[in-house]
Amino acid sequence: MNTDNAVTPTNFIRNIVIQDLENGSHKEIVTRFPPEPNGHLHIGHAKSICLNFGLPAEFGGRVNLRFDDTNPLKENEDFMRAIMEDVRWLGFEWDNMFHASDYFQQLYEFALHLIRTGKAYVEELTADEIRSYRGTLTEPGRESPFRDRPVEESLDLFQRMKAGEFEDGKFVLRARIDMASPNINMRDPVVYRIRNASHHRTGDEWHIYPMYDWAHGISDAIEGVTHSLCTLEFEDHRPLYDWFLDNIPAPCHPRQIEFARGNLDYTVMSKRRLRELVEDGYVSGWDDPRMPTLAGLRRRGFTPEAIRAFWTELGISKTESIIPMSVLENAVRNDLNVRAPRTMAVLDPLKVILTNFPEGETEWLEAPVHPQNEAMGTRQVALTREIWIERSDFMEDPPGKFFRLKPGGEVRLRNAFIVECTKVIKNEKGDVVELHCRFDPESRSGLPGASRRVKGTIHWVSSEHGVPVEVRLCDRLFTVPNPLGEKDRDYREFLNPHSLDVIRNAIVEVSVAEGSPGDFYQFERTGYFCHDEADSVPGRPVLNRIVTLRDSWARIEKEMAQKRA
Ligand code: ATP
Ligand code: MG
Repeated sequence: MNTDNAVTPTNFIRNIVIQDLENGSHKEIVTRFPPEPNGHLHIGHAKSICLNFGLPAEFGGRVNLRFDDTNPLKENEDFMRAIMEDVRWLGFEWDNMFHASDYFQQLYEFALHLIRTGKAYVEELTADEIRSYRGTLTEPGRESPFRDRPVEESLDLFQRMKAGEFEDGKFVLRARIDMASPNINMRDPVVYRIRNASHHRTGDEWHIYPMYDWAHGISDAIEGVTHSLCTLEFEDHRPLYDWFLDNIPAPCHPRQIEFARGNLDYTVMSKRRLRELVEDGYVSGWDDPRMPTLAGLRRRGFTPEAIRAFWTELGISKTESIIPMSVLENAVRNDLNVRAPRTMAVLDPLKVILTNFPEGETEWLEAPVHPQNEAMGTRQVALTREIWIERSDFMEDPPGKFFRLKPGGEVRLRNAFIVECTKVIKNEKGDVVELHCRFDPESRSGLPGASRRVKGTIHWVSSEHGVPVEVRLCDRLFTVPNPLGEKDRDYREFLNPHSLDVIRNAIVEVSVAEGSPGDFYQFERTGYFCHDEADSVPGRPVLNRIVTLRDSWARIEKEMAQKRA
């Protein structure tokens, strides 16, 4: 993926918009992003956000954030606040914020219009009966005995439904369309149901609540939306969207256009599943850094720049596909590679004594903040007699191609000089606990020996100046690409037991320990990390691994494939 590409890749919806502006059907375009405030936004929503906010930004026009708050039982204000925060974090700002509940009165009056014109009736069949009358894909439905209820009677009952005279489920209002339609959505769909429930915005004013299809198209029309962009599962609803607007005095008739949902492997994305993971304690919350929610990705350290580049590059189409998680991870790497300051950190420390380095002294070495970007300046790295290196960078009896440290072997300490391992110290169990090394003073940078080559370079941190921190190695939440796709198995059986490995005593340079929530770094040779915004406290930082430097899953998958073969 090429994130430097300044040209916006085109897509069929963008082309429709260009045409509509050129042929004068619209002077400006109006879109909306219509989340239901019943959960947090996830990476899939970001696709819709990039599209709906991106088009008016590019072509001139407006975008509305509209809360689709027509179901009082599942929705609340906390979710609304979180959604606003997430949209802004992604880098977008709406022109207007609306709520479908702003339109309850108008929606009700349009329903009265439908009844008066003989195009809706109050239904008395139970939900089960309605379902059995509806027919199937191959058989037409049957007409309800209440379908020809006189207009006056339906009007009276509907007004009394609204006034709260009946219990939930006693009646519904149905549009009177065509019980024989090959499209089941057109077989007299329900328009209103009774819900004697308090709504978080309208309180106890309403006892009836509109169904999605009724509320959605009319809200679009009231707002003067020109292009109503939604996911493919609404394609079969488009005839209904159009029928409703054709059969009321609608202020305008927006065009519904469907596109494929964004799906990712190794995760689940529907709000229902995400809520289950949160409520049943499989994760620490909606913002757990392993969650595909925007709050989780933010806490993990994914950047809005990377997420926008990811969706823009992938484009918009009508073909359903599942995008490999590695593509998203690469978008993050591409962004952080350019922007993240470099630093050294040791995740699994092994002590090294530089025997010819003076005791009690600190030498401050100058190292680039970013080797490819001089403008980012330099940093001071403390060197002392005692340092930490990564345990996996030493092997006592290594195989042939091991170019890191071994007894009698040489390696370059990054940003410093070449060292030779002169002694290995073990405890009574035989574990290596300390190494003694001699450094070659001629091999420091700036001296003639600096160009002397050894095969390996390793990272390190001074043990006097390094600061212990907690590091969380975040990985994929599931062990299989499609956790919902395994027959007879619950998706939770596939949760990855290593999705969050905690390291209590990693050692970082002091500048990292002093960073603040949201700061990110490349730990050289290890990966990208950021300060956890929820659990870091001054003096006790917690760092999340955003992503490794290379795609380690590609290697694991290749190994598994080789084993199978
Ligand atoms: P979920 O299935 O996760 O519960 P939803 O579609 O019910 O999602 P809404 O709050 O209704 O969630 O979605 C708001 C908007 O975001 C809708 O226009 C919807 O089509 C779009 N959207 C939701 N999920 C995706 C996705 N995976 N890819 C693209 N757009 C999406
Ligand atoms: Mg929904």
